[in-house]
Amino acid sequence: MPSFPTVYTLPPDKLLKAEALGHARTLAHFGGTAWTLIALWLLVQSGLGARIAGWAARITPRRWLQGILVAPLWLLVLTALDLPASLYLHLQYRLYGISVESWQLWLSDFAKSTALTLIVGTAALAVLYALFRKSPRRWWLWFWILAIPCEIAAVFVVPITIDPLFDHFSPLAQNNPALVRSLGRVVQRGGLQIPPSRMFVMDASRKVAAPNAYVTGFGASKRIVVWDTSLTMETPDEILSMYAHEQGHYVLHHIYLGMLYSFAVMLVFFWIGARLLAWASARFGARWRIRSLDDWSSLGLLFLAMSLLGFVAEPVANAFSRWEEHAADVYGQEALHGIVADPQAVTAESFQRLGELWLEDPAPNPLVGWWTDSHPSVAERVRFAAHYDPWQPGSHPRYFPPSP
Ligand SMILES: [Zn+2]
Repeated sequence: MPSFPTVYTLPPDKLLKAEALGHARTLAHFGGTAWTLIALWLLVQSGLGARIAGWAARITPRRWLQGILVAPLWLLVLTALDLPASLYLHLQYRLYGISVESWQLWLSDFAKSTALTLIVGTAALAVLYALFRKSPRRWWLWFWILAIPCEIAAVFVVPITIDPLFDHFSPLAQNNPALVRSLGRVVQRGGLQIPPSRMFVMDASRKVAAPNAYVTGFGASKRIVVWDTSLTMETPDEILSMYAHEQGHYVLHHIYLGMLYSFAVMLVFFWIGARLLAWASARFGARWRIRSLDDWSSLGLLFLAMSLLGFVAEPVANAFSRWEEHAADVYGQEALHGIVADPQAVTAESFQRLGELWLEDPAPNPLVGWWTDSHPSVAERVRFAAHYDPWQPGSHPRYFPPSP
């Protein structure tokens, strides 16, 4: 029997909490989505779109100025509909001690993200409605073409401009030079040039009592971010293991691949959205007092279609993300070979600890996981890590040369 976990298990007290938290997350996600869809459908049916558009039309005859009045109002409606589920989830995370975020901080983050949604959302909707008018049949294609440079630019600027609005980042080299040196061995083993200036620490401990790390950005803004909670809650080997996984995302170009995949998915979903909206406005437009798709009275219907398609797109996006995460797990474990005594043990133990700290359910519902999870379950990750030994005779590592 190996001396490390081969199956992810929790002690009875943590198991109860993990199961309860898992159920709460499922309820918040599926219940929250159902609530938003039903509420939007009722609002659309009530003719609210026509009333809001009529109010804006009485204030100004200019269509784009009407949009500046109508779009933020509907975006606020959508934010308000999402609020019960996110409040409930925050309460649950506080209850189980994973979130340590004060209400003051939570409210300030909520206010900032709402302001961003209003600004970015209003601009995007102004463009979309202009396309509805200019190209009633091909708007979805033009909007997709415009979305590509916007997404590339967003991935580039978000780590530099948006993320610092919510959390503080400092260079890892300044914060923990010894750690940068030990991570340097993983960098070297990968045959890489990741300068320490691309490694950052985030002050997550103000909000969360669990570790994490991630890779973000594009081109000159590409970076590896480690939460400060990882530095205090994990052993040096666990930090190495977590870092090696992130280096996998970095080396395997997962940000670029993710963008390419999202462009393909967006094209399909924009086309479906166009068909759905054309059908719904022709079929129910008169009943719901929606004059035409290019009239601001259709905005509630647009949000209803977006919410529905966004929900349907979740498993499509998550399947790709799980594929990337598994590849990064394989890379990470291979990268630890020759650096830690037993990569299988270190990786399996590190996932076991991560699962305990985040209270991950050892036996989550597979359908819920398939729909909502961006990562393989902790149980799958422990099982894989414990059994993956590409250096035994007859096996071959996927990302590193077979010797030494
Ligand atoms: Zn990952």
